[in-house]
Amino acid sequence: MDKMTPEQRSRTMSRIRSRNTKPELLVRRYLYAHGFRYRVNVKTLPGTPDIALRKYRTAIFINGCFWHGHSCLKGKRPKTNSEFWIQKILRNQTRDEEVRVKLRALGWRTMVVWECQLTAKKREKTLEEIVYLLNSAFLDKYRKQPQPVVYTMDEEREVDVAAEDFEEM
Ligand SMILES: [Zn+2]
Repeated sequence: MDKMTPEQRSRTMSRIRSRNTKPELLVRRYLYAHGFRYRVNVKTLPGTPDIALRKYRTAIFINGCFWHGHSCLKGKRPKTNSEFWIQKILRNQTRDEEVRVKLRALGWRTMVVWECQLTAKKREKTLEEIVYLLNSAFLDKYRKQPQPVVYTMDEEREVDVAAEDFEEM
């Protein structure tokens, strides 16, 4: 990746951010198979979460390690143009934090899944953990005072996901 010009890397970035990437489909397929229903790329919530589960008041973001500055091997900064990339990654991290705060204010919790947690070796554990956390989130609703409903999900679009076709994987 170090050999790319900023322009080339920007093009790569736009591709990386494009919808229905394999890591996203991986998580969606697993959740769907386990009975979870959700909406994808929800523009009406802060940060356009990749997956939003209203019943669990949880927004899931599948983050690329490089672009969101994960402290792992994949998140390592390139040696060339490092200042340029550091600034860009810092902006992404700032935005991620702002999105978390906004979601929290709406009574939503944020779950971040890093792409490095979805490699063949770690996938199973990560997916199990997501389900565990979602179930905990659901139980929390009954332990605490209910949150005021600030945001109403669009029922019709949630139903659309029931027809999701995973054959493309
Ligand atoms: Zn990572």
